[in-house]
Amino acid sequence: MSEIKTLNHGEKFSHASVGTLHGFEGKQFVKDATGATSCEISFGTLPSGAEVPFFHSHKENEENYIILSGAGKFQVDNNVFDIAEGSVIRVATNCDRNLKCTSSEPMTYICIQAKEGSLGAYTMTDAVISEGTASLLS
Ligand code: ZN
Repeated sequence: MSEIKTLNHGEKFSHASVGTLHGFEGKQFVKDATGATSCEISFGTLPSGAEVPFFHSHKENEENYIILSGAGKFQVDNNVFDIAEGSVIRVATNCDRNLKCTSSEPMTYICIQAKEGSLGAYTMTDAVISEGTASLLS
């Protein structure tokens, strides 16, 4: 089972890591390590042939699954479809979901939970290009 570690933080940021995704195992939730207030993010890996041992539903949060490696099948209520590295699956509230790894390699994914309907402004309607900060990146 991989662990998540908080690496550093400041007044306006926090930085955590689950380590390399190639060797990631199990399931890790990120919110407590980063202090996130707008969403919960988890990393998950299913070995070849494995599925999450239960179906589940959410009352308030939609989920967005991002498949990072491997391939498999995703089920939402009575709908089943193939998923693979690069897939992004949005699942609404109040429906059952599960996923299974069918590839020979493990399937690693990220799941982001956020309150359904809460996204207002985003990207260019929320971002402001800043001119007051000198780059310290070099
Ligand atoms: Zn969930």
